[in-house]
Amino acid sequence: MRTIPHYINAETVSAPGELPVYNPATGEVSARVPIPSTHDVDTAVSVARHAWRTWSASSLSQRTNILFAFRHLLLTHAEELADIITAEHGKTLADARGEIARGLENVEYACGISEHLKGGFSSQVAEGVDVHSFREPLGVVVAITPFNFPIMVPLWMAANALATGNVVILKPSERDPSVSVRVGELLSEAGLPAGVFNVLQGNAATVNQLLEHDGVDAVSFVGSTPVARHVYQVATAHGKRVQALGGAKNHMVVLPDADLDIAADAAINAGYGAAGERCMAISVVVAVGDVADELVAKIAQRVDRLRVGPGNDPASDFGPVITAEHRQRVLSYVNAPDPGVTVVRDGSARAEGPGFFVGPCLLDGVTPGMRAYDDEIFGPVLGVTRVATYADAVALINDNPYGNGTAIFTRDGNAARLFSRQVHVGMIGVNVPIPVPVSSYSFGGWKNSLFGHSHIYGPEGITFYSRAKVVTTRWPLASESQIDLGFPRTR
Ligand code: NAD
Repeated sequence: MRTIPHYINAETVSAPGELPVYNPATGEVSARVPIPSTHDVDTAVSVARHAWRTWSASSLSQRTNILFAFRHLLLTHAEELADIITAEHGKTLADARGEIARGLENVEYACGISEHLKGGFSSQVAEGVDVHSFREPLGVVVAITPFNFPIMVPLWMAANALATGNVVILKPSERDPSVSVRVGELLSEAGLPAGVFNVLQGNAATVNQLLEHDGVDAVSFVGSTPVARHVYQVATAHGKRVQALGGAKNHMVVLPDADLDIAADAAINAGYGAAGERCMAISVVVAVGDVADELVAKIAQRVDRLRVGPGNDPASDFGPVITAEHRQRVLSYVNAPDPGVTVVRDGSARAEGPGFFVGPCLLDGVTPGMRAYDDEIFGPVLGVTRVATYADAVALINDNPYGNGTAIFTRDGNAARLFSRQVHVGMIGVNVPIPVPVSSYSFGGWKNSLFGHSHIYGPEGITFYSRAKVVTTRWPLASESQIDLGFPRTR
């Protein structure tokens, strides 16, 4: 049985494999991943701290050269990386390629670090006094990532953290950890010095040791809401800078003037893509006014054409879910539906093979208070909620405890503008169902979808991974020097 190693100090480090890693398309255990001991955690942190001494002093051009080389390696190894992702996550190869492309964007953004890290300068703020500011790295950044984007989310974090002069310890998801080791190897091949990017495998116990470790300065977390809240509370209590992105329940509002074919296509793409295992997946379609019957019929027709199958089969529209337990949980929303829900399409009958497949499920009449509405299902289950007015749709979204993404489908520009101003959600799409910002903006939800004030990647990523210094300078002549115990004034 293959054991997935750690990657510490630019070397793969083998350890006894403990946790099973599955191929979700076959249901078989394909490898085992270690849980590090306390000693292993201490070693990784001390290697990283040591590497930080020189990396924090590296020139911006040195960092940029490495990031450009890394970008090239990601492109030339994209197929190999996609294969690794599909084998452990189960998503289609096309989706794995898309994930790599969106991660790559963040490396490209980080290649512009000399522009992003420009400081400020003010001349003559007082007689003979100038002020300048610049930003410095934090130190050791721990990146804790979820299973659903095994390369994109690590790159959201690592690209900007490394570019700003930090060192990184990545604790990837134990469900699909192999690709992180390849990322480490490719960074080394690109010229990154040993110890600057490390991968420490493990589980919740590993995370908890890192959150409390004296040698860790900052934590970037992406995962489910209960764990995000826990990570934020524990790591801030231990003096770390923390951003912790959580789960989601994303609504797609369809106004009566929308093109229903466009809306139905979008609901299919955003509801069932990656088997619904995306934090920006649409899980609730909010049908406003009298559009519901026609919209549900159009979505159902399209559901009937979807093919669920192995991710490496080009005929598959989406692959299996991540584990057998998760499959059972997802199926419970259709096998034991909430009272009042109509099961329009039951995907349990379309589950194929010994893998963790779930066919596409469509539920109508889903309302707050029901499990199918309140829970983040994280599977190929799309719910439809019927509301009378635009105002009801906005109230529904604003009353929801999550605030990651939302979308509106309409031809009315003013309604779309009002919507984007009125919803309490971090990322909004207008006729765009999955509004993941490009890398020159930042990604982040509101409410229970993010703990901490800083969104991830883009300009807020640069700010998160660096801290400001402001220098006030005067070069007085001896004749101007005097004793004055008053507080320094600018006038
Ligand atoms: P998860 O919260 O179970 O795991 C995330 C990470 O936390 C993993 O590395 C895991 O080892 C660790 N972990 C798990 N339980 C822990 C605990 N009790 N204490 C400390 N660490 C723990 O999430 P997942 O199932 O891997 O990923 C799916 C979730 O991630 C969904 O809720 C999804 O919405 C969310 N997600 C959010 C975003 C976003 O940007 N907001 C992006 C992707 C995924």
